Amino acid sequence: MVKKVYKKIKEYHQIVIARHVGPDPDAIASTIALRDSIRLTFPEKEVVAVGLGVSKFKYYGILDKIDTIHFKDCLLIVLDVPNILRVDGIEGLEYKEIMKIDHHPAEDIKGSVDWTDETSCSTCQMIAQLLLNSPLKLDTKIASNLYLGIVSDSDRFLLPYTTNETFLIVHKLIEKTKLDFTSLYSYLYDRSLDEVRFQGYLAMNMKVTDNGLGYIIIPSDIIREYHVDLATPANLINHFNFIREVSVWTFITEDVKNQVYKVSIRSHGPIINEVASHYHGGGHKYASGARITSKEEIDAFIHELDCLCEEYKRASISNL
Ligand code: AMP
Repeated sequence: MVKKVYKKIKEYHQIVIARHVGPDPDAIASTIALRDSIRLTFPEKEVVAVGLGVSKFKYYGILDKIDTIHFKDCLLIVLDVPNILRVDGIEGLEYKEIMKIDHHPAEDIKGSVDWTDETSCSTCQMIAQLLLNSPLKLDTKIASNLYLGIVSDSDRFLLPYTTNETFLIVHKLIEKTKLDFTSLYSYLYDRSLDEVRFQGYLAMNMKVTDNGLGYIIIPSDIIREYHVDLATPANLINHFNFIREVSVWTFITEDVKNQVYKVSIRSHGPIINEVASHYHGGGHKYASGARITSKEEIDAFIHELDCLCEEYKRASISNL
């Protein structure tokens, strides 16, 4: 795969790199790291990374604004997203070919080169693998972006997608670029007192069913009251791992402007991405997201997750 990806990159003069809407550090860092590596290796190529910028992620680098007509017939590389409707920043772009590199379960995007690796903890791990095993160049800044994406998506090497391969790749990244990795953590973990207090609100108000489903519906006025934003619940959801009474937990956040509820779901047992797919969502087996448009749908969603937890609880008891 690494050879095929490298060959395809070599073939094109113009390359547009894109990732999913509502980006997280893995999506942003993988996009910018790949762009910067291609620029460093092939200075004559026109390579851009597109999508809406997020000010709190500006450490990773600046994204590009493009004239889509100019990039007609480019190679489009999509990272960290399996679904064409969730690709950010490619409206009106007439690309010649699409190549996908992603660690989510495959959906509708079929790249002419299609590298999907669900065993990888992050897209940044895959890009690091590519850069470490091809002539594509790596420098300290690129390595620090990749390191942060890996640490963020694996939740500090905690989630089950973390493997021996993850540690091997991280070891090589650090060794090759003399990365001062402990100095990077503030870019991921620096946060406001408002956010810490909001986390307290979530802990105090999350309901937990007898079957082990933790859930909370967060009204927009609470988001306003705590001076946080609509992305904050998803940023905090991993902090609720390892609660003995909870096997699946979900945050349902009201987004008044878009008339939708943004949903984040996590699990440390039951597989949740199928339920997410019933509610305009998807994702990984133990980390998914969805979009819900009505109160009735919220009730149905909570009921479905609770049934999943009940089944899981019953199976766990009978296995004792
Ligand atoms: P989040 O809770 O927003 O961090 O999302 C967790 C995972 O679910 C990520 O891998 C997302 O890419 C995926 N995801 C989130 N929202 C959606 C959606 N509406 N459709 C498909 N996948 C999603």
